[in-house]
Amino acid sequence: MNIVVLVKQVPDTTEVKINPETGTLIRAGVPSIINPYDHFALDAALELKKKHDFKVTIVSMGPPQAKSVVQMAMALGADEGVLLSDMAFAGSDTWATAYALAQGVKKVGKADIILAGMQAIDGDTAQTGPGVAQQLGMPQITFCEHVDVDGRRVIARKQIDGGYEVLEARPPVLITMVMTKDYTPRYPSFMDVHASLKKPFHVWSAADVGAEAQYLGLKGSPTQVNKIYPPPQREKAAMFAGSGQENAEKILELMRREHFLGE
Ligand SMILES: Cc1cc2nc3c(=O)[nH]c(=O)nc-3n(C[C@H](O)[C@H](O)[C@H](O)COP(=O)(O)OP(=O)(O)OC[C@H]3O[C@@H](n4cnc5c(N)ncnc54)[C@H](O)[C@@H]3O)c2cc1C
Repeated sequence: MNIVVLVKQVPDTTEVKINPETGTLIRAGVPSIINPYDHFALDAALELKKKHDFKVTIVSMGPPQAKSVVQMAMALGADEGVLLSDMAFAGSDTWATAYALAQGVKKVGKADIILAGMQAIDGDTAQTGPGVAQQLGMPQITFCEHVDVDGRRVIARKQIDGGYEVLEARPPVLITMVMTKDYTPRYPSFMDVHASLKKPFHVWSAADVGAEAQYLGLKGSPTQVNKIYPPPQREKAAMFAGSGQENAEKILELMRREHFLGE
């Protein structure tokens, strides 16, 4: 079987800053990493590769510097890497991103299993994986902890409220992965990185994957961001350093003053 893993490069921080004038994320000066959820998707793919000798191809869409996460995934064991990189992709919302990725997957060729992270830690929408499945007309199983293959059956354990669901699908199928103790994201050694440089790596433009300009970028995105802003800063916390009795009295007084006690 052929597995495609969708890997996104994200800023290495949960404190993403926003440019108040343009309303866009400030990415400059923030180191980038592989999206943590995608690391689990990759490890699931590599486990299947080890067990069944499947081929694993990485597909990412991003600016040229996103090559580093594709390279890292190849250093960890993926066989081939693709970076979709073109100014035409810039400003794409999740629909346009899913369209571009689906076009990329089509060009890769036969994909029996597509693995994606449940969500990206910067965009956080969890829409891209399901969007790719929709674009490719394939079934999807979301929020999975574990994936296995038995003959032509793909078996996935999915997290649900208060338990698990074990689902089966015939390939092709798209699966989104949560962070799970079943897999252990690893980091490559220098030798692994060196060896990965010999693996096939492609940079494909919109034209290369047959993506139509009308469905890409800001113009091709059905959703537009009206406003984006950080939450208002909270007032400084009041600190009391007296005895327990003194502090309790002060807290009570503060609560009365702020009308927390209904007076
Ligand atoms: C209305 C709107 C407008 C936007 N405008 C801009 C903009 O102007 N500029 C901009 O930089 N961003 C923009 N974005 C963000 C951009 O659309 C998202 O980065 C992208 O669509 C992925 O969505 P997400 O980060 O929520 O990923 P999620 O859907 O949360 O990611 C789920 C999984 O999908 C896969 N995935 C997601 N993105 C990629 C990728 N690029 N390559 C490979 N795999 C991927 C990964 O496996 C990931 O774990 C916009 C988003 C919206 C909703």
